[in-house]
Amino acid sequence: MLRLHGQQLPVQTLERSLAEGRLHHAYLFTGPAHLGKATLAVQFAQALNCDADTPPCGVCPSCARIAEGNHADVRLIDLGGNAASIGIDAVRDIINSAHLRPYEGRTRVFVITEADLLTRDAANALLKVLEEPPDDVVLILVGTSADNQLPTVRSRCQTLYFRPLPVDEVAHVLQEEHGVSAEQAQVLARLSRGCIGWAIAATGDDTLYASVHQRMEQIVDAIDGGLEERFTYAGELARRIDRDRGAGREELFLWLRWLRDIMLIQQGHGASITNLSWREVLERHAGALQPADIVRWAQNVTRTIEALERNANVRLALDVFMLEAPVLTTRV
Ligand SMILES: [Zn+2]
Repeated sequence: MLRLHGQQLPVQTLERSLAEGRLHHAYLFTGPAHLGKATLAVQFAQALNCDADTPPCGVCPSCARIAEGNHADVRLIDLGGNAASIGIDAVRDIINSAHLRPYEGRTRVFVITEADLLTRDAANALLKVLEEPPDDVVLILVGTSADNQLPTVRSRCQTLYFRPLPVDEVAHVLQEEHGVSAEQAQVLARLSRGCIGWAIAATGDDTLYASVHQRMEQIVDAIDGGLEERFTYAGELARRIDRDRGAGREELFLWLRWLRDIMLIQQGHGASITNLSWREVLERHAGALQPADIVRWAQNVTRTIEALERNANVRLALDVFMLEAPVLTTRV
């Protein structure tokens, strides 16, 4: 049986394919990070090569070798978040070996975990395989959005959508399966935005929470500071974005969530805020900023995120976002 918290639809779709023996040659798993897309891809590869009554059993030699990454017929192309793109060299193995017979299992499975990063050349090379797919080959592309794939690739894949979990469901799993206190479970579940993998990782790794906390401190300092502090912050953020676009994007989403929390408090919905451990500061900001200013500020953050995604001038967008940011006043 395939198992993944909160993703009934993709799980059921794959189980039905397995039960009916009707496989697609290619699948596209899409959705935000940390929902378990790659985990499910590996389980699916196990199921396609496991002989148990309800595959994957997870314990037979084939399942074990796939889990360890040592199965000759299952290849995981995972650049560990360090690559800016996945070029043709990284997929050449797939192209060269796709037409070989399975070596030890029944089905050759190729999983590309950061398929958003495929270059056009690499995607076109994969397309050649997808145009005349061998019967015993399954390709799984794992990415954040179907829009990041070429239409020609997308049309040959069955797309499965993964959605963030309700916050309470994440908190429940943290409490029941990971021994986290109710209070901490709420804090981590809300910070995870329903991306359960992040929340589970954060229960075992304090540095994940600490790193979010540190970035929140910088955001609060920028809001509390004057123009000079804000531009210093914008410069640092621009450099972080240069080094790691993904992390920069995450930080801009922290801004959005902060501003959203302020709006929630201003509208009397303080129980629903994301940043539970920052309630006092949020309440101070909610009292010192005008609702209309917050909305405009959030729009400027969104524009910055869009600039980042379009590869436009991020520094300029950041400067506008800081220049137009409202200054704290105490409302009467
Ligand atoms: Zn097995």
